[in-house]
Amino acid sequence: MNTLLSGAPSELEDSEHLPGPSQFGFGTPSRTPAELSLDRKPRKKLFHRARPDTSQRIRRAFQWVFLAVNVWIGGQFYLWVRHYETIGQSSYVSRPAGVEGWLPIAGLMNFKYWLVSGRVPAIHPAAMFLLLAFGAISFLFRKAFCSWLCPVGTLSECLWRAGRTLFRRNFALPRWVDVPLRGVKYLLLGFFVWAVASMSAAGIAEFMRSPYGVIADVRMLNFFRYLGSTAAIVLAVLVIASVFIQNFWCRYACPYGALLGLTALMSPLRIWRSEAACIDCMKCAKACPAQLPVDCLITIRSAECTGCLECIAACPSDGALQMGLPAFAGKARPKIAPWAMAVGIAALFLGIVGYAKTSGRWNSQVTPGVYRQLVPQANDAEHPIPGRFEPSE
Ligand code: SF4
Ligand code: SF4
Repeated sequence: MNTLLSGAPSELEDSEHLPGPSQFGFGTPSRTPAELSLDRKPRKKLFHRARPDTSQRIRRAFQWVFLAVNVWIGGQFYLWVRHYETIGQSSYVSRPAGVEGWLPIAGLMNFKYWLVSGRVPAIHPAAMFLLLAFGAISFLFRKAFCSWLCPVGTLSECLWRAGRTLFRRNFALPRWVDVPLRGVKYLLLGFFVWAVASMSAAGIAEFMRSPYGVIADVRMLNFFRYLGSTAAIVLAVLVIASVFIQNFWCRYACPYGALLGLTALMSPLRIWRSEAACIDCMKCAKACPAQLPVDCLITIRSAECTGCLECIAACPSDGALQMGLPAFAGKARPKIAPWAMAVGIAALFLGIVGYAKTSGRWNSQVTPGVYRQLVPQANDAEHPIPGRFEPSE
């Protein structure tokens, strides 16, 4: 079934009682075909889950730890920039290369450079390793980067939860607005992929070695430090919209999420619903932050699924929903427990980052002298002029 054919589950009333038409605000006593079909279905026995669900506690722990790591990295990076801006007046701290996680386009460029040349890039290699780690996590565990690790996703979730507390519900855009708007993130992704694909490996290396490329991270920091009025208005609109609509930025505008979502389409791991165990209570669909009609599908293939496991946490029936692999050779479907998913995500992230660090490939090969020259004038850096700058000087 097409996952886009659902209504907006977040708008549904308490699914203990199936919503009547008046609850949707139509003000008519006639019953919907879905309700009539449910009436015809024989009532199933509910097998309560034996153990309370722990998936959301584990996921939230990941979210907060990763947010804290990002705050720490941001603070250390700011101090590092200040050291060069004050010409050594403020104390020196080392540059945290993890800040390159905020340079996804540099990561994409370096990934292409690595694929074509077979060499690990000299400038912003951490951006590439982090892209690889998040891509691997999304391939194996759906788009789990977005709901388990991404600090923007975490803040976005805090905003819609605050909105739900304030207004006792979240809102959903009408389908004719929602569907085309969801295409925006793919258009943005298409533009960036086209731009990177049209560059040669030598062109990418040249770009990265330019002053603009070397201090792309400092420019990104300065963008937020000296926010222009247009950017501030856009940011305010995104924050306000996120209070009303779940994951507004992620759902409509994030090209990184779009890339990871397309990667997740190839994932063997998915949410599966057992029709035999399901009691059609619709709690899963109501809980799904991606507004997927989980209660109507056998498996969730959508690129919007972030592997957040909220649907499983909300499901009252034992064995009705599970994250698992397709059944093979008539055997029972292998199930993945939340703790196993957590171990897998942590192992992939720490494994790839750990490899880059221990093999000496994590940090940019730029000398302090070059940073001393470039960081104070970061905002003056122009797009690269070939041959103008060599970072090894
Ligand atoms: S609630 Fe379930 S279906 Fe919805 S995004 Fe999370 S894991 Fe995917
Ligand atoms: S799968 Fe969804 S509809 Fe079925 S019992 Fe679980 S929460 Fe209810």
